[in-house]
Amino acid sequence: MSDPRRALPSVDRLLARPALAALATPHGRPAVVGAVRDWLEAARAALAAGRAVEPESVEAEVAQVLARRAAPSLVRVINATGVVVHTNLGRAPLPAAAAERVALAAAGYTNLEFDLASGARGQRETHSEARLARLLGVEAAATVNNCAAAVMLALDTLASGREVIVSRGELVEIGGSFRIPDVMTRSGARLVEVGTTNRTRLDDYRRALTPQTAAILKVHPSNFRVSGFTESVEPGDLAALAREAGVPLLEDQGSGLLHPAAGALSGEPCAARSLAAGVDVVMMSGDKLLGGPQAGLIVGAVRFVAPMRKNPLYRALRLDKLRIAALDAVLDLHERGRLDEVPVRRMLDEPAAAGEARARAFADALRGARPGLAVEVRPAASAVGGGAAPDVEVPGVALHLQLADPGAAAARLRAGAPPVVARVADDALWLDLRTVLPGEEDELRDAVLAALA
Ligand SMILES: *Cc1c(COP(=O)(O)O)cnc(C)c1O
Repeated sequence: MSDPRRALPSVDRLLARPALAALATPHGRPAVVGAVRDWLEAARAALAAGRAVEPESVEAEVAQVLARRAAPSLVRVINATGVVVHTNLGRAPLPAAAAERVALAAAGYTNLEFDLASGARGQRETHSEARLARLLGVEAAATVNNCAAAVMLALDTLASGREVIVSRGELVEIGGSFRIPDVMTRSGARLVEVGTTNRTRLDDYRRALTPQTAAILKVHPSNFRVSGFTESVEPGDLAALAREAGVPLLEDQGSGLLHPAAGALSGEPCAARSLAAGVDVVMMSGDKLLGGPQAGLIVGAVRFVAPMRKNPLYRALRLDKLRIAALDAVLDLHERGRLDEVPVRRMLDEPAAAGEARARAFADALRGARPGLAVEVRPAASAVGGGAAPDVEVPGVALHLQLADPGAAAARLRAGAPPVVARVADDALWLDLRTVLPGEEDELRDAVLAALA
């Protein structure tokens, strides 16, 4: 008996088939050759395993593979989870004004490092960083790739080869393997842990001070809370100690709240308060509560921030023109108090009555299209999320759909275009409209009806 694999056509024979040759126009010949090779390899493996191969299916299968490979990998999704700063879903959606500025900067040339008045070389720092410094009333600001990069740059610049004092209660892992101790090791700073997991006092810091101390670091434990018998040191007391010792007090604040906020965020630490208490340098994320692009913001005293800009690492960590455009537009909205135009803040501040009215109208529309559908508006807490505010839940409502198989419905929603991410809990499908953008509600309704069909 002959080996059935020898009966398979060659790559060239397959490529000569008109249906496969025609695929070169949309996809390019190399992509078609690659997909045909992959099909043949899979066919040989199937035959070797004793499975049958249908040679006539090659055209449809290769076309399908090529369509899948050509589709963009990163796509818009509808976030119906109610988690406002959802790291897996890309954190903050940009304000419309910021998205427009990104599109303009992306498609053309910009004055990124060009001084239009003099016609000479300019500084990229004159754009968003000047606005950020003004907004917080600080001497200096620098922006880098993300908050992890900001911490790395600060420690590398100010503490390489020397000691940095951190409370044991603040040696956190933020997720995505951002562990404060690891970042410190990579920056060349030596970590000096003080206190215990639940209690650290001012005296613990004082006793750890040595001539080798380069800085004291405070970290916002943004994704967990130690409760019960706890004690930590207020930034003001720590600032006084740092000043006495002649070392800077740095704070990794993560969440990126610039000024005190009302409502759900009222208990959150903010940069303005820390700076007023005497923290020398605050580091934050751009895409959490600030509501902007992924970025790391560094603000504070010029004698600490200026050397960071001169550090060669800064060149490797700095922002590109697209994110500078987005960040500047977002900071402009903060400066003018237009927080209702920053999606993250608008979602968190949505009045309960408005959210409930939106949910009721949505439930009515679903019931209108599918009489008898078991959909209810129920109390549910949305989450701030994203390592931004661990305990903070925002009371509100969500749509509760009683279905035979809510997991299967959630999978169909994820497979749609655009994909919808919902929550499955207590044997039901939950849709929280807080995180659904105003223009997405019709799409969401159609997607839900299709997933239930
Ligand atoms: C989120 C967070 C980080 C990491 O921020 P990225 O911008 O994602 O790098 C670091 N520290 C704290 C305290 C955080 O909350």
